[in-house]
Amino acid sequence: MTTAFIRCPWCSVHYDAFQSLCDQCGGALFPPEPSDPGAVPPPAPRALPKGYARNLMFSGNPLGLVGGIFFAVGLLLGVIFPTIGIATGLWLMLLIGGFLALIFTTLGGTMLYVVYQAGMNKVRPYKDGVAVLGEVGNVYKNPLVNVNGRNPYTVEYLFRADGRPFEGQMDTWSSAVIDLEKGQPLHVLYLPEDPLQNVIYPPL
Ligand SMILES: [Zn+2]
Repeated sequence: MTTAFIRCPWCSVHYDAFQSLCDQCGGALFPPEPSDPGAVPPPAPRALPKGYARNLMFSGNPLGLVGGIFFAVGLLLGVIFPTIGIATGLWLMLLIGGFLALIFTTLGGTMLYVVYQAGMNKVRPYKDGVAVLGEVGNVYKNPLVNVNGRNPYTVEYLFRADGRPFEGQMDTWSSAVIDLEKGQPLHVLYLPEDPLQNVIYPPL
């Protein structure tokens, strides 16, 4: 495993040598030895390293930004138009402003809610998931996602829940994952009520 891989997956700090826990955020690091899946995840409910839940929800998600802008514009309209309306006595302004503000805040609020829910779906397996030993499957560049001409890597992994086989996958920008070996053990966390909600612990 190359040293490039010694990067905290929770807060992105880099280390020259492997250590089991990150100094910055306290998160577990992915172990450098292919045969070693690392320490068993702590029992649920787990606390996520600081800032990681927010990153999961909003980083690389333009809908969150657009939603935030819509919501802010809605609030602004809700202040500006009524102020003009009251100052000038043009009560129609109040009506138009209120209407526009309602549309923008509703749209923005809906987008933020969707982003938040999708984020919570990613956060929940980390917090409440059951830990099981899984293994690395295929690792490849994901052609479906393209940001500025670059593709993230997709790491597939296999695990069993209730005696049934499941497959999960995680995208990462860390090119060091090409060093992962097929069949190498890793910890997987899944929600017992819905094993399709699953993550790798620690993440990549
Ligand atoms: Zn960290």
